[in-house]
Amino acid sequence: MRTDHLILTYVVSLLAALSGLAIYSELRSRRFGPTSSEDHIFRCKKCGLVYTDDADVDRSRCSQCGQANDAIKF
Ligand SMILES: [Zn+2]
Repeated sequence: MRTDHLILTYVVSLLAALSGLAIYSELRSRRFGPTSSEDHIFRCKKCGLVYTDDADVDRSRCSQCGQANDAIKF
């Protein structure tokens, strides 16, 4: 009887730890998702290079040829 109780406690705590880990990784991936897409995406009009820059800039210079480009809006 005592061993059964110990096993039950072990299984329950293991399941609790697993679900806690699943919720934690779910929350982390949700928080990470919007943050990564906040960067502006640019496509160079001159050479066609696609690159990203900070979200607070509307125009960014192409790192390959120096052409200033507008951010792509979705
Ligand atoms: Zn370019």
